[in-house]
Amino acid sequence: MSVPPDIQTVHDKHGRYPEATSVEDFTQNLAEVKARIEAACLRAGRDPATVRLLPVSKTKPETSLRQAYAAGCRMLGENKVQEAQWKWQAMQDLSDLQWSVIGHLQTNKAKLVARFASEFQALDSLRVAEALDRRLQIEGRSLDVFVQVNTSGEASKYGLSPEDVPAFIQALPAFTALRVRGLMTLALFSSEAERVRQCFVRLRNLRDRLRQSAPAAIGLDELSMGMSGDFEIAIEEGATVVRVGQAIFGARPLKNSHFWPGETSAEEPPL
Ligand SMILES: *Cc1c(COP(=O)(O)O)cnc(C)c1O
Repeated sequence: MSVPPDIQTVHDKHGRYPEATSVEDFTQNLAEVKARIEAACLRAGRDPATVRLLPVSKTKPETSLRQAYAAGCRMLGENKVQEAQWKWQAMQDLSDLQWSVIGHLQTNKAKLVARFASEFQALDSLRVAEALDRRLQIEGRSLDVFVQVNTSGEASKYGLSPEDVPAFIQALPAFTALRVRGLMTLALFSSEAERVRQCFVRLRNLRDRLRQSAPAAIGLDELSMGMSGDFEIAIEEGATVVRVGQAIFGARPLKNSHFWPGETSAEEPPL
């Protein structure tokens, strides 16, 4: 079956982005991604200033991160806490570089995140909220957080199921060091754009419903959705943050199943 190019996702490009190896490569890749963001905004009648690009540097070496910094990146997304922590430690000289943790967190690692992260996008349990809040109070810090929602219904994906989110949100004001910014999701990994789009629509609809009942202290302005393969669709559906790794840094040698255990690799290209 042939799919018209305009509704095809570029998940099939995963694994094919060339590695960025110089500041010039990063400058060019960032310009290309920004141009794609602008084109998607134009199609959707949105102001490009309402979409934040979060470059995702997971698995990439310090040299690459420093090149990305030199090309203008001031916040980097990392999926694993320990990797994020050693990179943070190694790059303390870049004092205006901020870190966003975008992957699942275990309670026993909350302490690390509370120390160095500016943003945490994968909040999905009250135990983690409590552990983070406790440590943040001790550190005298606060943290921007996004509630991760499982919009694809896949058991392998982390995140709360949509029906559990309203009660979860009601409980969050108790954790005063957490500044709730909005919701985050990972769409289905599929080459069928319409099924990917449904995940984004689900997140936006949930956010719109939650807004009517959310406690005053809870911000729900942000929708973090979309990655290298599907961020244009996410923008068309209201994304305010897109998390883009491979299109900026180059393909990762590891399969997605390494980052999201249990992920099927049927949609992934051979290595
Ligand atoms: C790796 C990752 C991304 C970025 O994926 P790319 O395919 O590299 O753009 C986005 N969000 C999360 C949670 C990730 O772990």
